[in-house]
Amino acid sequence: MTRVIDLLVTGGDVVSASSTARLDVGVDNGKIAFLASPGALEVEARRVIDATGQFVIPGGVDAHVHFGFPLSSETMSQSAAAGSRAAAFGGTTTFIDFARQSDDGSLLAAIDKKRDDLKVDKPSIDYALHAMITGLSTLDVLDEIPEAIADGVSSFKMFTTFTSTGGPGVGDLYSDDGRIWGVMTRAARHNGIVMVHCEDDSLIAHNIHCLYKEGREQASHVAEARTAVAEEAAIRRMLLLSRRTNCPLYVCHITSRYGMEAVFEAQGARVPAFGEVLHHNLSHTEEKYALPEGPLFHTYPGLKSLDDQRALWEGVIDDVVASVSSDDFTFPRDVKLAGTTVDTVSAGHNGIETRMGVFFSSSVALRKMSINRYVGLTSEGPAKVFGLFPRKGLIAPGSDADIVLIDPHADHLIEQGGLHSDCDYSVWDGWHCTGYPTTTILGGNVLVENGMWTGQEGRGAFVPSGLPGEP
Ligand SMILES: [Zn+2]
Repeated sequence: MTRVIDLLVTGGDVVSASSTARLDVGVDNGKIAFLASPGALEVEARRVIDATGQFVIPGGVDAHVHFGFPLSSETMSQSAAAGSRAAAFGGTTTFIDFARQSDDGSLLAAIDKKRDDLKVDKPSIDYALHAMITGLSTLDVLDEIPEAIADGVSSFKMFTTFTSTGGPGVGDLYSDDGRIWGVMTRAARHNGIVMVHCEDDSLIAHNIHCLYKEGREQASHVAEARTAVAEEAAIRRMLLLSRRTNCPLYVCHITSRYGMEAVFEAQGARVPAFGEVLHHNLSHTEEKYALPEGPLFHTYPGLKSLDDQRALWEGVIDDVVASVSSDDFTFPRDVKLAGTTVDTVSAGHNGIETRMGVFFSSSVALRKMSINRYVGLTSEGPAKVFGLFPRKGLIAPGSDADIVLIDPHADHLIEQGGLHSDCDYSVWDGWHCTGYPTTTILGGNVLVENGMWTGQEGRGAFVPSGLPGEP
């Protein structure tokens, strides 16, 4: 009797972080049912997608996304509904957003609130959560960490900067080293992971004071405030805390050569450190700040020099980096340009849709990086680091049927009018990509086919994170 399945993806090259093989992929009940040599199995599929000439990769996992996050008391970043739809167009099937605890608030209550908000918002792709611990957090928060991990939130984000960001009503993101030490100690005991936005706040404050004194406080000078040494100083301190607590450390969005070298050295000394780079920093350098609308290109920690960008690429290609993320934090152009000084320039950009395509083009197509490393950085690596593997990040029997097709020869022009985020500009407007995602499948449902939305909206679900692992 011929077996009947929901979906068959035929004729493509199925890629993982360690292998590439021409295989048919059978999908049933939302899961990968089998992999088989082309035509080897007698099955009848309700739907067949011909992937000839394309890479068949696990759906993108974007480990760093801020949907519905307040920039000020009246302005929120784009919703998960809008951002997740854009993500699907760009080949991402899972995002990891943040639940924010602050000051004496409860960590578990913050996670519950974010989960409730996302249920209402109805994202179109699956999602997991990190917890942010910010400001003057109390010791009570530490006691909530084991339950957060048991409930599927096993990563804890902290900031060494932003003592007074975001204006009134928003509060500080900054945590002192004592608080970070406390969270690392507790997370290590329960096999969690701590992720840190690393920039030394006092060095930045000094730089800002100097720029004001010199009359050079305009936003175009932001790179002189958010320097490589400020990043390095904080990364090296956090690596020390990681080393002495043995808590895994995910170094968010490394932007500088100094920072990359620090993480590389620590990994050599067996510190459990993982690096993240944004496709934003792989695409742009600090020269962009001199453009008339230069601050559009800013996202913290900010753009650095061409040499710094080279070091980021070395880290990407040579295994220092575990994840290429977007740090999507999307506001319209007028909000983005409202901050005109080095201490008020707005964060963020709408990168979730362009991440997979821009990075494919600049890594696999342009720099001849392997497609396996690409899958490692965009899907399998982040899924492993944040405990979503092998449910996410892998095309293998039993995994969720989250599948993306990439046409490696597509000549794709990114234009603002063709993007889907809730935004009116893109720092990739006008970019030519060689290779681009064409088709996105979430849990066996074809959301996007050949660049057209064909699926149902609002079907994304929360995916609990297990314990973090090595990529
Ligand atoms: Zn961020």
